[in-house]
Amino acid sequence: MTKQSRDNCTQSFKPDSSITLPQMNEGEEQGDQMNWLKLLDITFYDYPYISSLLQYAYTDSVNEMQEPPASCRMAWFAADHTGELVDTCRRNLNDDQRIQLEVAQACLLRRDTTMSGFDDGYCIAVPVFTRHANEVFAVLGCQITGLDENGVSLVQAWVSMAARYFRTCFYRRFEALFVTDLLHVQKQAKREEYRRSILFQVVQKLHDQIDVDAVLTEVFERIAGMYPNAKVELLMSQDHLSRDPRVKSLQLQGEKDHMCVRAFMEGRVLRAEIWGKDEEPCLEIAVPLVGKQGVYGVFHLIMPCDEIEEVDLQLIGMLADTAGSAFENAKLYEQSNLLVSELRLINELTKRLNQSLRLKEVFKFATEELLSIFKAEYCCISQIEKDSDFFEVMACNVPSLSKEYFPKDYGFSGMVFSSREPIILSDYKAYDKIQSRLMDETGARSLIVAPLVVRGEVIGAIMLAHRAERFFSYENYRLLQVLSSHIGLAIANASLHAEVQRMANHDMLTDLYARRYLDDRIQELQKRDVGGSLIIVDIDLFKQVNDTFGHQAGDKILRQVCSIIKSTVRKTDIAARWGGEELAIYLPAADVQSGYQIAETIRHRVAMETQPQVTVSCGIAEWNRDNERISVESLFYLADMALYRAKKNGRNQTQIGLAPEK
Ligand code: GH3
Ligand code: MG
Ligand code: MG
Repeated sequence: MTKQSRDNCTQSFKPDSSITLPQMNEGEEQGDQMNWLKLLDITFYDYPYISSLLQYAYTDSVNEMQEPPASCRMAWFAADHTGELVDTCRRNLNDDQRIQLEVAQACLLRRDTTMSGFDDGYCIAVPVFTRHANEVFAVLGCQITGLDENGVSLVQAWVSMAARYFRTCFYRRFEALFVTDLLHVQKQAKREEYRRSILFQVVQKLHDQIDVDAVLTEVFERIAGMYPNAKVELLMSQDHLSRDPRVKSLQLQGEKDHMCVRAFMEGRVLRAEIWGKDEEPCLEIAVPLVGKQGVYGVFHLIMPCDEIEEVDLQLIGMLADTAGSAFENAKLYEQSNLLVSELRLINELTKRLNQSLRLKEVFKFATEELLSIFKAEYCCISQIEKDSDFFEVMACNVPSLSKEYFPKDYGFSGMVFSSREPIILSDYKAYDKIQSRLMDETGARSLIVAPLVVRGEVIGAIMLAHRAERFFSYENYRLLQVLSSHIGLAIANASLHAEVQRMANHDMLTDLYARRYLDDRIQELQKRDVGGSLIIVDIDLFKQVNDTFGHQAGDKILRQVCSIIKSTVRKTDIAARWGGEELAIYLPAADVQSGYQIAETIRHRVAMETQPQVTVSCGIAEWNRDNERISVESLFYLADMALYRAKKNGRNQTQIGLAPEK
């Protein structure tokens, strides 16, 4: 007999209703598979635990006993190996029971059928032997009255037969108990095997998963599947919310005492016995989803107490551990993917940004790219004007804002300018600390802003906005910060390039265009236009001026003349220093007459405005499509010839160059 069966016997023996007892007599041939059962037996050590088995065997057998002859009165009894009567309280024995006890004890000592006569009857006790060791483990007896002497031997045989039947009933119960016990162990083993296989499958499946949501769904379904009567919830912290609608967010604020919050904070399994909805005892369990780098969420289970064992808790704990590390792996994989795609994006963006060194194109391209990368509705890039206190909107898809100027401390750009930190705003409507024209004019609610920082200096700001609230994620905010440094660099490069270009095209002393630039532009315009005029301006007797006032004063006069020229000509005209104190102005699409007017204006103003006073002589020439022999050189030649005539004629005058005869 196993320890488990003994325990079952002493507690309360309930035959398993699912077990059909073999209906057979001792020794009867049964199928081979049942023969091993017949080898089972009890030993001396089991005796203290078999009282309920004896009780059942006694009830089973007495129910089957034949009715005695009408003249007789029979009382059956059974006793255990100590002689204790089954189903009686020893302290309150009646007279009959005292006789039965005596006879039973005598029978145990004699190990044989024992009979004792009393007033008007007999008491017969028959020993019941174990199967193999032939030990007496019980006694079955009968107290009979109203029996004549002839009937005694018959009754003896009858009680012996009943004892054999009692023994059969006992062993049948015993076998049933054994089988029940076996089935229970088998069931436990099966459950254990199931748990292990679940764990194995989950481990295998989870580590195959590289998708964060798939990991959560898998564990969620496994636990829900294993405990169908359990209420299962998965509460994830704010940073790890899932697309799965069954996954809820763990509210850390305001509910410090909630079991899930505590399990999350402490990173360990917590449980408590509670009363369920239908007043049944339930177990509430909070199992944290723990990885190596932190706790991500909590599984929250409520299930009836009788459906969960200690091993189940261990299993759930193991599942959560596996899920925690799988979740972490998936998360890391997701993050590395994100980083890779971010790097690709940055690479692509910088490559394309650097393809153009034209500032305007860089701004336009950056705006288009940012709108598409962040799915934003509005984008505004502003740059701080050199040596001023203003942001200038360089690119914006809100027409009313383009080319606008804002003070350096205005709005969100002003905020990032002073803090040098990016900003994320989930709802402008609920934020009343800062006014923004971009947000007001578009009705946008979500905003991310990043400063454009180049070599540690804030040179501008990027703003991205959307009308939906909470539109931008933390990842968006972070990505904009990364991209803005690349865009800032591209802007700085393009600005530098523009500056270098400007310097190459301009004369340092006079700030007029350089001669080569003028040559190139005339060449370009001659291809496009139908005509134009060129004025050459030469300061009269400049050598003398230098000699009289010094070279520095000469430079100053030269700059005065140039500034008069700049303020006289139109924006589209190109004024250049042709060499020394000779200056040239090209007037696109202007004929010689209007060129003459301008030359004369310049000449008059120079005479009036220079200090010390100087005069200039001008030579002017024109070209047009009708003239077949047009070139930059010939145009300069004609103008130079006209200048020569002006000098020759006494200076301080304008002469028109005449086109050679065809
Ligand atoms: P004119 O043209 O009326 O015939 O007499 P001019 O004295 O101006 O003629 P010339 O061509 O002989 O002399 C030009 C002078 O201009 C010589 C040079 O000293 C002076 N000059 C040329 N470039 C500069 C310059 O950048 N700064 C100064 N201060 N002087 C210059
Ligand atoms: Mg001169
Ligand atoms: Mg000269």
